[in-house]
Amino acid sequence: MIMVGERMKKIFKILILGLIIIFLIFIFMVKINDTSEKKSVATKSKYEQFDFYNSKYKKRYESYHKKNPDLSTENVVTYVNIGLDNSFYTNTQKTPYLNKEYILVNKYLYLDSSYIPDNLENISVKYARSGMRLVKVAKDAFEKMASAALNDNRKIIAMSSYRSFQYQEQLYNRYVANDGVNAADTYSARPGFSEHQTGLCVDVYDGVIDYTNFEKTDSFIWMQDNAYKYGFILRYPDGKENITGYQYESWHYRYVGEKIAKYIHDKNITFDEYYAQKIDNKIKVQN
Ligand SMILES: [Zn+2]
Repeated sequence: MIMVGERMKKIFKILILGLIIIFLIFIFMVKINDTSEKKSVATKSKYEQFDFYNSKYKKRYESYHKKNPDLSTENVVTYVNIGLDNSFYTNTQKTPYLNKEYILVNKYLYLDSSYIPDNLENISVKYARSGMRLVKVAKDAFEKMASAALNDNRKIIAMSSYRSFQYQEQLYNRYVANDGVNAADTYSARPGFSEHQTGLCVDVYDGVIDYTNFEKTDSFIWMQDNAYKYGFILRYPDGKENITGYQYESWHYRYVGEKIAKYIHDKNITFDEYYAQKIDNKIKVQN
C-alpha cells in the first residue's frame, strides 16, 4: 500500500510539472505572437489598415492625401478607389457585375451601347406613367413600396425608369445643345454612364408637384423614412456632389436590395463609397 501511495505521489508531481511547462510554453508563444503583430503593424502604411486597401493604388493614396490633407485616411482610400483623384469621365472602364443588383454605373464605370438588362417588366400604371420598365426584382420592390406609401396616404409615381443607351444619347445631346457640356454634365449622364440604363433606378414624383420639387413633398419625407426598407436608396444626396458627380436629385432612387440599402441608409454614405469598400474586386456583399 505504501509503495502504491509513493508511486501516485510521483505521478502526480510529474503531472503538475508537465502542466507548468505547458503553461510557460503557452505564455511564451502568446508573447512572441504579440510582438510580431506589433512589428507588422508598425511597418504597414496607415492606408493598409482598411480591408479595401488596394496595393496598386499606394502612390495615388499618398499624392491624393497630400493634395487633401484634411481628409481622413479612410476617405482617402475610399475616394481613390472610386477614382476621384482623377476628374470625372477620365480613366473610365466598363462596369463589371452586369445584371447584379450591386452593379455600379457612375462617371468612371460605364455600360456598352448594346447593354440591355435582363427581365425588364412594366411597372403597374397604378404607380407609374404608362410604359415605365424596371428589372423584375426592382419592379416588384417598387410596387411594394408604392403600395405601402399609398396605405400611408402618400403617392409615389414613377415618371422615368429604364432608359436605353440610344434614348440617353438623344437626351444628353439635347441638354448639351441647350446648356453646353459643362452644365449638362452636372445634371445629365453621358450615354453609357446613365444609371437608368441598368433598369434598377427610377425618378419619382408625388403625382401633383413637378419632380424637381419632390424634396418639398410629404411623399419625399415618406421615402426618406421608408425607401431603404424596400431596397431603394437616394442615389444623389445633398452635399455628396463631389463623390457622386451629380447635383442633388431628391427624385432619383436606385434599387440595391434591402441589405445594402439598410447599410447605406444607416451609415449615411453614397453607393459609390459602399461599392469602393465592399464590392470592388471582392464581391463582398455584407450587412
Ligand atoms: Zn434619374
